[in-house]
Amino acid sequence: MKMDKYYQRRYRKENLAAARGYHESYIMRIKRIVFGHYCKGRIRCQCRGCPIRHIDLLSLDHIIPARAKTKRSKRNFWRAEKHGWNMWLWLKKMKFPKGFQILCLACNKAKGTKTCCPRYGKSH
Ligand SMILES: [Zn+2]
Ligand SMILES: [Zn+2]
Repeated sequence: MKMDKYYQRRYRKENLAAARGYHESYIMRIKRIVFGHYCKGRIRCQCRGCPIRHIDLLSLDHIIPARAKTKRSKRNFWRAEKHGWNMWLWLKKMKFPKGFQILCLACNKAKGTKTCCPRYGKSH
């Protein structure tokens, strides 16, 4: 009986790892579809002049004018806490609504603090 328990635990552990791996590849597939759509087929940072193409370094950016953020409906939307792959799935389900763009992490971060790209001088 002791052995059974051991194998059971091991089996569960391996299963979990497999499930996690499957989940990751599924997420990557969704990411590629969504990012590919917003990049019009060629996945890369949408900041003009930025050469970043690696999908792991890219993120989804919400193009929302500062004014719109104060509106109630927008606030409620963000309170729904859609981010990461939840967000990608949602976008796919909603048939890719407008208002999003793909930026590399550096450009995305710069967007929050600067009015234009510190590296390439264009607005994001
Ligand atoms: Zn960039
Ligand atoms: Zn940039």
